Amino acid sequence: MSNWSIVTMALVDDIKQQVDLVTLVSEYVSLVNVGQNFRARCPFHSERTPSFYVFPERQTWRCFGACATGGDAFSFVMKADNLEFSQVLDQLASRVGITRPSKQTQDTGFTLYKVNESASLFYTDHLISSIEGKDVIKYLTNRGISEQSIDSFSLGLAPTDWGALKSHLSKLGYPEELMEKAGLISRTKEGNTRDFFHNRLLFPIRNIERQITGFGARSLDSTGPKYLNTPNTQIFNKRALLYGIDQAANSIRDQNVGVIVEGYTDVILAHQHGFANVVASMGTALTEQQVAQLVNIASSFVLAMDPDTAGQEATLRSLEVSWKIFHPPFAQGNGKRSHLRYRQRPRTQLRVAVLPKAQDPADLIRENPEHWVEAIRDASGLMEFLFQILPPKYDLTTPQGKLQIAERIGTLLLGLQNSDEQDGYLERLENLLGVNRRTLDEMLGLSRQAILNRPAEITKANNPVQGYLAPFRHSTQDPLEDYTLALLLQNRSLSEFCERLKPDFFQRSENMTLFTHQKTCATIEELKAHLDTSLHEHLDRLVTWTLPPLDHQQREDALKQCIRRLEERNLREHKSQEGMIVDAYGNHSHENSPNLDDAVENNRKLRKLFIEKSNRSMKKSLE
Ligand SMILES: [Zn+2]
Repeated sequence: MSNWSIVTMALVDDIKQQVDLVTLVSEYVSLVNVGQNFRARCPFHSERTPSFYVFPERQTWRCFGACATGGDAFSFVMKADNLEFSQVLDQLASRVGITRPSKQTQDTGFTLYKVNESASLFYTDHLISSIEGKDVIKYLTNRGISEQSIDSFSLGLAPTDWGALKSHLSKLGYPEELMEKAGLISRTKEGNTRDFFHNRLLFPIRNIERQITGFGARSLDSTGPKYLNTPNTQIFNKRALLYGIDQAANSIRDQNVGVIVEGYTDVILAHQHGFANVVASMGTALTEQQVAQLVNIASSFVLAMDPDTAGQEATLRSLEVSWKIFHPPFAQGNGKRSHLRYRQRPRTQLRVAVLPKAQDPADLIRENPEHWVEAIRDASGLMEFLFQILPPKYDLTTPQGKLQIAERIGTLLLGLQNSDEQDGYLERLENLLGVNRRTLDEMLGLSRQAILNRPAEITKANNPVQGYLAPFRHSTQDPLEDYTLALLLQNRSLSEFCERLKPDFFQRSENMTLFTHQKTCATIEELKAHLDTSLHEHLDRLVTWTLPPLDHQQREDALKQCIRRLEERNLREHKSQEGMIVDAYGNHSHENSPNLDDAVENNRKLRKLFIEKSNRSMKKSLE
């Protein structure tokens, strides 16, 4: 069932990617170009001087005037047309030509798995019993893959014939429409159908329930891309799948360590050599959805990186984004109680293994399994990794270089939940930069100068990056928001602590909608009755999400901490948008430039949050 929640969320993301916010907003107000961004008189309050901005780079908007609010395409239309989330979903979906899956088509899910299973049997049979198959098996054997692995991973071969699978499945009684929906056949320009995979080695991709969602396919001749996946279907979304998870889940759970590699054969060879806790991201990027699945089954993970293919910078940037999911908001207690809690549910830990001599995991496991064991065992902690990798990238003899590295490491550091650990790294950062704690605090409090430097950083960070672990743009989940809502929905008595929590702290419109509605509903049933069905699955997921065992006080602390973090995030977002405007003017005294008092006010709030956090750490160290 939870799959369909992912479908709705993925739909929202698809729509957001396709809607152009500037065009959309232009239909309501006339936008004037200001540098990279656009400005107008706010459509939501009356004003003479425009203070409403659209940021195309981020596909967000904000009113810096009386509304003091902002959001994405969904929240804009909801506000402008006074519509419900679901109505906007329909409206924007039809605008970009996406059909919302109806309940009926969703129910065909099980038949899609069934037709995939039949296709897989056909492909394995062709690999094992055809003449062409003999060469492919020889190729696999040369790569070190055993017959047993070929069998246990159900490897298969797509024939050179363009219609073999289609006619086989037709004989079994599957309608063509279903094969097309499963991505097994495709339609040519002339309107004819033919097999999607052709002369390729096939890797069936199973979900954690062992159902085949689709296939990865390696070319055996030089036609087409080297690797080709099933196109996106109702059940195949490569961003949400992990290759090998069906066979690795138990081992990951038992060892409480999961290893993430890049390729299908890396996974197969690892399992063959007894390393059963290995999975692969699908293709090049590890997504937040994949990470979310992993942290459900274990708390310690190692990225086995191939230094040849991983752009170090790209890896770093995406690690910065993944950091938050590896450090889910968690009640920060003090003294002995917090140790007890860490034992109940250890924090999720991410480490990075750099493989020796630029070998990929498959080679290393085949040639030197003991080196693989060492590489995984000796993987550095993420902070360690950053302290190794980042300093050489900056000129630490200049204040500019110091500020940049402080910002980069500092953001991650402040997210650490364990204040002893945090303190240790802060000290290390002080030594690295040659500054005292007070100066470092000021640097981390984001100086005015840092605001002005931000736009360039943002533009850089938003560039699509190829390579292992590309940045997690357009994620379908927001762990911090989800956790906050789950706490709140599962503990209705916590609502009294929500005074500080504003709807626009939620960046995802569906979460904002949930939050707004829950305020007026006493029970989940009542809330459900008020919500559109498109949000029911998401609501169910939040209501049934297993939270760490916490007593009432701990839950209250956890919620307060979440609210602080959401507020902090909101302020940072707000501030970087201001930074972009300042950049657009290039001159802060321009008569229409946004009020920099706001920026100063935001700085003050951010520093206050930082000081609150520091005080808690200090309190802890005194106990
Ligand atoms: Zn306004």
